Amino acid sequence: MPLISVVVPCYNEAESLPVFVQACKDVFGDMQNRFGTNFELVLVDDGSNDETVERFKEAERELSEHAVKWVSFSRNFGKESALLAGLEHAHGDYVATMDADMQDPPSLLPEMYERMLETGCDNVATRRATRAGEPPVRSFFSRCFYKLINGISSTEFVSGERDYRLMNRKMVNAVISLGESNRFSKGIFSWVGFKTEWISYDNVERAAGETKWSFFGLTRYALDGITAFSTAPLQIASFSSLLLFLLFLVFIVIIVVRRLVFGDPVAGWASTACIILFVGAIQLACLGIIGQYLAKTYLEAKSRPSYIVKESNLD
Ligand code: UDP
Ligand code: MG
Repeated sequence: MPLISVVVPCYNEAESLPVFVQACKDVFGDMQNRFGTNFELVLVDDGSNDETVERFKEAERELSEHAVKWVSFSRNFGKESALLAGLEHAHGDYVATMDADMQDPPSLLPEMYERMLETGCDNVATRRATRAGEPPVRSFFSRCFYKLINGISSTEFVSGERDYRLMNRKMVNAVISLGESNRFSKGIFSWVGFKTEWISYDNVERAAGETKWSFFGLTRYALDGITAFSTAPLQIASFSSLLLFLLFLVFIVIIVVRRLVFGDPVAGWASTACIILFVGAIQLACLGIIGQYLAKTYLEAKSRPSYIVKESNLD
């Protein structure tokens, strides 16, 4: 019987977990009857400071006919690390990743599994059909991000894609094999290749609690994605210096000719000041871009683990 692992990153999800576990129980039972699949729930606590771990223990009792594994981090390492830990601890022939807040409805899993069997694809990914319920500012910047990153990266990013996926073992192994500690899953899922089928669904509100993403957090996440999957900003930096040099050549010719023809005019300090400011700004921007990549390289070079487990029910 095929085993499906369901990987769930949880950060302060004590309120949503009971609803989520109940939904899993229904779906697991239903799929066991229809497809004869076994289930394993892999819960990862990303350093929560509420009763998330207690909810895990309740889930073990609630889902006693299925395997429930859980690990708890020593602090908050971020969703990407929690996803990685979940994938590494999952032993299923298929692995699904989903959020604990019901925004990735577990009830979609049978459809995803069916699609996988029908099409013989390696993974079934989901995307939101609409962005209803999301603050307009967030939607706007999110759209800009996808336009930008698709323009400058050779890896494809699908607007509105969720981290809700069902993957086969081959793909999961490939995802785990990427050793970068600065992980950007949306890019990694696309980068590893494999045949992907897409399912759209309407945006769902959180079951309880609130989103962990602040505007600043999302901006940082977007920058991480760009530096992880594109070196175009570095090329733009080099290109802008070339452009400035050409501009400088044109100016120097104009200045020399003017000096020879009209003598030595005093005017022109304002434009000089503008040019100095402009060039200074470009230089700082280029330095900043190089700094971003250097920082990434520095962090990777330290090769620290992506997460540290404090407690689990596995030992
Ligand atoms: N999450 C996590 N670590 C974090 C932030 C979030 O494990 O540092 C989990 C969170 O518990 C949830 C999922 O990642 O299961 C998605 O988080 P959230 O709902 O806040 O994001 P959104 O749905 O608003 O994009
Ligand atoms: Mg959510």
